[in-house]
Amino acid sequence: MDQRSIETDYLVIGSGAVGMAFSDVILNETDANIVIIDLHDRPGGHWNDAYPFVRLHQPSANYGVNSRVLGRGTKDATGLNAGLDELASGAEVLSYFEGVMQQQFLPTGRVAYHPKCRYEQQGGEHTFTSLVSGLRQRVNVRRKLVDTRYFDVQVPSTHQRPYEVAPGLRCVPLNDLPAIAQPPSGFVVIGAGKTGIDACLWLLAHGVAPADIRWIMPRDAWMLNRAQFQSTQPVLAMRSTVEQLESAAAAASLADLFARLEAGGHLLRLDPGVEPTLYRCATVTHAELEQLRRIRNVVRLGRVQSIEPARILFARGSVPADPGWLYVDCSARAFRNREVPPMFNGSTIMPQVVRTCTSTFSAALVAHVEAAFGSDSEKNAMCAPVPLPERPLDWLRMALVAMANQQRWARDAGMRAWLAASRLNHVGGDGAAADAAEMQSLRQRYRDCAGPAMVRMNALLAGSAT
Ligand SMILES: Cc1cc2nc3c(=O)[nH]c(=O)nc-3n(C[C@H](O)[C@H](O)[C@H](O)COP(=O)(O)OP(=O)(O)OC[C@H]3O[C@@H](n4cnc5c(N)ncnc54)[C@H](O)[C@@H]3O)c2cc1C
Repeated sequence: MDQRSIETDYLVIGSGAVGMAFSDVILNETDANIVIIDLHDRPGGHWNDAYPFVRLHQPSANYGVNSRVLGRGTKDATGLNAGLDELASGAEVLSYFEGVMQQQFLPTGRVAYHPKCRYEQQGGEHTFTSLVSGLRQRVNVRRKLVDTRYFDVQVPSTHQRPYEVAPGLRCVPLNDLPAIAQPPSGFVVIGAGKTGIDACLWLLAHGVAPADIRWIMPRDAWMLNRAQFQSTQPVLAMRSTVEQLESAAAAASLADLFARLEAGGHLLRLDPGVEPTLYRCATVTHAELEQLRRIRNVVRLGRVQSIEPARILFARGSVPADPGWLYVDCSARAFRNREVPPMFNGSTIMPQVVRTCTSTFSAALVAHVEAAFGSDSEKNAMCAPVPLPERPLDWLRMALVAMANQQRWARDAGMRAWLAASRLNHVGGDGAAADAAEMQSLRQRYRDCAGPAMVRMNALLAGSAT
C-alpha cells in the first residue's frame, strides 16, 4: 500500500480515557502538536464496547479530561445511587469524549486524529495502518511516544471466554441482556467483579426472582464504598483517608487492619462470613449491596472450567445445571496485572496510576509532569507507579506508593498549584464553607498519622508471606 511520512511532537497510541486525559494537558500546558491513533472509530476506548447499561463507578465530576466538565454536577434522585453524585452512563462518556475531540482537540489545529488505524513499530520505525483503506503511514516523533496500552482493558464483549460451553447452551456477554425476548428457566452470572455486580443488579431491577439467579463467585472481593468519595464534598474523601490511615497505624495484624477498615465503612463485602481474597477497586453503595445480598445462590468453587447441559464444572467440584439456563459471561478481567515499567523512559512515556484507583486523574498528572519537569529522573520521582490491585494485600502496597507520591507533590509549589486547580483531583478543594473547620482538623490528623501509618503498613507488608 501507499506509504507516507508525517511528523509530530507526541505520538499517542490510544484515544481511550488515558490517551485523551494525557493529550488534553499537553495541549493546554505546552505548544506541542500530537498525533493520536486508535483502532476504534471513536474516542473513548473500551467504552465503545461496553454493555448498554454500564455507568461509571465513580462520580462523573472527577472523570474524563481536566479541561472539560463531565456531567451536570447533580446528585442522583432515584435508584441505588440515590443521594450520591451522578454517575455518567456509557453513552454519556462516549459523547463526552467525542465532544472533547471534535470541539476542543481538533479545532486547535495541533491534533491529527487517526481512528480505525493500528499502530505498529516496524524495524524501529513508528507506523500506523488504516484498517479501512490499508494506507500505511510512518511517523517521525520529535519528542515522545505515549503508549496508553498499559491497562490493557478487557471487557466481556471483546475477550475470549476462558471456559468451554457445550453446543446448544446459551452463554452471552452481559452486553446481550437487554436483547432478551424470552425468559430463560434461570440465569447464571459468571464473575464477581464490577461487571458481574452490574449483571446481577440489572437482572434484579428487571424483576428476576433472586432464587432464579446463580452467581458464580470465584473469589469474594473487598469493595470500595462510593459514599465516601463524593466530588461535591471533598471532606468525605479526606475524612475517609484519615480514618483509613489511623486504622493502619493502629492495626495489630492484617486481619485487624481489614476488620477496622470494614468497621469504618471504608471497605465492604458481600458476605460478612467469607474472607475476601480479591481487591480490584470495584465500587458499590450500601443500597446495591443490599440488593446483591438477596441472591442466596452463590457458588464458591473457583473458576468455571466448562459448562455442560446438566452440570457446571469447576476446579474444585461441580454443580447441577439446567440446559434452559442463560449463562451471562462477566469473566473478563478489566485490567491485567503485570510488570510496572518506569513511566518516563527516554523517548517513551507509559502512563500508569499515580494515586489509588484513578485512571484519568493519573494520566493528566503524568502529562503535567511531562510538561513541567526536565529530566526523566525528576519526572519518575514525581510519578512512582501505584501497582494495580489484585489481592487484599495490595491495599497496603497501593496506599504506600500513593502516599509517597502525595508527599513529593506537596513539597513542590507547582504541583500543589496544579493539584488545587485540577477538576480530576477529588480531594482538591476545601468544599463547602461549613466544612472548612473539619477540613483543617482533618489535615492536622493526616499530618499526625501519616508517618506512623506508613511505618505500620511497611511492617505489616514485611510480615506477610504473600
Ligand atoms: C465497566 C467499567 C467501568 C469503569 N469505571 C471506571 C470509573 O468509574 N473510574 C475509573 O477511573 N475507571 C473506571 N474503569 C477503568 C477504565 O478502564 C479506565 O477508566 C479507562 O477507561 C481506561 O482507559 P484506557 O485509555 O487505559 O484504556 P482503553 O479504554 O482500553 O483505551 C485504549 C485504546 O487503545 C487502543 N489501542 C490499543 N492497541 C492499539 C494499537 N496497536 N493501535 C492503535 N490503537 C490501539 C484501543 O483501541 C483503545 O481504544 C472502568 C472500567 C470498566 C471496564
